[in-house]
Amino acid sequence: MESAARETHDAKQVLLTPAADVRGVGKYRAELLDRLNLRTASDLLFNFPRDYLDLSDERLIADLEEGQLQTVRGTVVEVSTSSKSGFGKSRVAVLIKDPSGHLRATWFNQPFVSKRFHEGQAVLLTAKPRQRGLMWEMSHPLVTNLAEEEAISDGRKMLPVYSLTEGISQYYMRKMVEAAVADFATVPEEVFPDHLLKKYDLLPLSTALQAIHQPQNQDVLQQARRRFIFQELFVMQLAVAIRRLQQRLEFAAELPTTTKIDARIRRLLPFELTPSQEQAIAEVSADMALARPMNRLLQGDVGSGKTMVALYAMLVAIANGKQAALMAPTEILARQHAETLSGLLTASRVHFAVLAGGTSKADRTRILNDVADGQINVVLGTHAIIQDDVKFHDLGLIVIDEQHKFGVRQRAKLRQDDQSPHYLVMTATPIPRTVTMTMFGDLDISTLKELPGGRQPINTYLVEPGQEERWWGFVRDRLREGRQAFVVAPLVDESNTVSAPSVAAAFEQLTNGELEEYRMGLLHGRMSAAEKQEVMDRFRIGETQVLVSTSVIEVGVDVPNASVMSIVGAQRFGLAQLHQLRGRVGRGNHAGFCGVLLGDADEKGRERLEAFSKSTDGFELAELDFQLRGPGDLFGTQQHGLPPLRVANLQRDRELLEEARQEAQTLVASDPGLKHPDHAKLRRQMLLRYGKALELGDVG
Ligand code: ADP
Ligand code: MG
Repeated sequence: MESAARETHDAKQVLLTPAADVRGVGKYRAELLDRLNLRTASDLLFNFPRDYLDLSDERLIADLEEGQLQTVRGTVVEVSTSSKSGFGKSRVAVLIKDPSGHLRATWFNQPFVSKRFHEGQAVLLTAKPRQRGLMWEMSHPLVTNLAEEEAISDGRKMLPVYSLTEGISQYYMRKMVEAAVADFATVPEEVFPDHLLKKYDLLPLSTALQAIHQPQNQDVLQQARRRFIFQELFVMQLAVAIRRLQQRLEFAAELPTTTKIDARIRRLLPFELTPSQEQAIAEVSADMALARPMNRLLQGDVGSGKTMVALYAMLVAIANGKQAALMAPTEILARQHAETLSGLLTASRVHFAVLAGGTSKADRTRILNDVADGQINVVLGTHAIIQDDVKFHDLGLIVIDEQHKFGVRQRAKLRQDDQSPHYLVMTATPIPRTVTMTMFGDLDISTLKELPGGRQPINTYLVEPGQEERWWGFVRDRLREGRQAFVVAPLVDESNTVSAPSVAAAFEQLTNGELEEYRMGLLHGRMSAAEKQEVMDRFRIGETQVLVSTSVIEVGVDVPNASVMSIVGAQRFGLAQLHQLRGRVGRGNHAGFCGVLLGDADEKGRERLEAFSKSTDGFELAELDFQLRGPGDLFGTQQHGLPPLRVANLQRDRELLEEARQEAQTLVASDPGLKHPDHAKLRRQMLLRYGKALELGDVG
């Protein structure tokens, strides 16, 4: 046992060998590697290629076929650069020849590429070729400079391609990693117990490390990748399974919804609940009646009526003599919830207060006192609620609106010593099922599927460059009818580095141009809470007719008279986010209109925006966003508090994910603390990666 422990320790030491001491690196290159966060032998070993050069299908130019990845070996005959005037587009064309014919390689808008070639140079070009007239062409091929490559590739047909930094060529990077693999690949200890390696047919760690850097062929490479993907997903799923288990062990007060309580709450509601709301309320009530904390995610499209479900839950808590807290991502939203609450509760004796960054010191002190002795039943606010000096008398329920703005860690802060409050998270960012199953595996889920009756449809239009005049005319018509309008832009000010429209510029342009006859307000995240509140209030009561804003209005803002929204610089927003934004209009009795000003959106951007204009289904858009841009943009894993995945992709690797999930659950069920020596490495990996984010510190 002891010697095993020592071995582990030694292996760790060896892997921490400074990069400078790895063969072929040296002090100078180590400094450059530092920029890529590569500081040790282990870093180099686990610095996986971002791509591979597959030279296995090498052909004569005369034997090329359209549509598949092929490599030709030839000599550069001519290098030319042309610029098409007007659009500022340039084209580099490199003509190469082999014994069978000629081929042209082209690069658009990369004039610097021409510097890499000279006449007579021997190269390999890899791409999917196309026939143009009589000439074969490769657009943006991968280039392998033969003199350099032949020295290291020793007949291998797949070369790794690494991320680089200035001063380190692909050639040297390969050499350094090769040395690290040769000298260190057998040092890291296997993470998986034998039976899992067998069951899932996984390459052993050292073999996989070798294969991922120096694959003999596609097959081996895929096996190596599969091993690392499985490992990453498995470790994540262990963390989620353990987190869930820990929650099961927590205690909470039982807060039953008696028929009497239910009847009393329903008397306050101004409308019939939708079937989904009924269902969600039933699920929430069932959770809260139990002696372990509810951990429920309530998801529903913008306007689906999540707030009502939350209010119901809060009133259940209060009816049971407990306090409730509602945390919103912005002060505007917190105050809006307070208004909804006060509208419903005029006839009741529930006391509530708003606690936010903008609350004065005197008010704050008074509120804190009343919260501590239980006089205030409901606290609404921003994360000011979870600051250390807030002590609840008896907190029974926490509702978090728009959870993706909060880290997981903040939520832990609200736990009280021996009892946890019940916990309800609301999000209008629809989360694809793959993700809810996995990253949010520690939450139960209720979904509001339909919108309450009476909601107006929102019509979305793409406004082509040149059609803006007409669009603003349309906006003026709505304003003349007495409606109000939003204008949304991605940035606060014009910035030098990013060319995107700013609210400052839009405001400037519109007040002096298209909308000069109308009263306009300006809202963005850099204003103080008080300023924002004032701007919002003025818009709410109709004193300003047009609100120019950043995406701070994305979440929840409810001004029923606002019927038209214009979005400039739309391609900088995710689809789910655009959908959120659009949900700000069409909330009253008036049909909603959303104009997406295409501006200089590129081809890809246009495609996405077209999809957006065609669908009104938030879940569909989220799924699409997820496919196009990965999960990061939905709720930033960073915002969720989880580290990003490195090799796995939840969308692409769904099947492996499912296997990993089931196996992780089985393993945690049999060894909840991962105490068995066979699981020690897995446990370490899990804590290293997810311990902090998921508060797993007390495992074992
Ligand atoms: P979101 O899910 O976006 O938070 P809200 O809770 O703000 O949606 O509800 C959107 C609007 O619909 C609000 O004005 C709310 O009063 C109204 N609403 C909620 N539930 C119903 C219902 N069952 N019937 C009619 N209107 C409803
Ligand atoms: Mg809401």
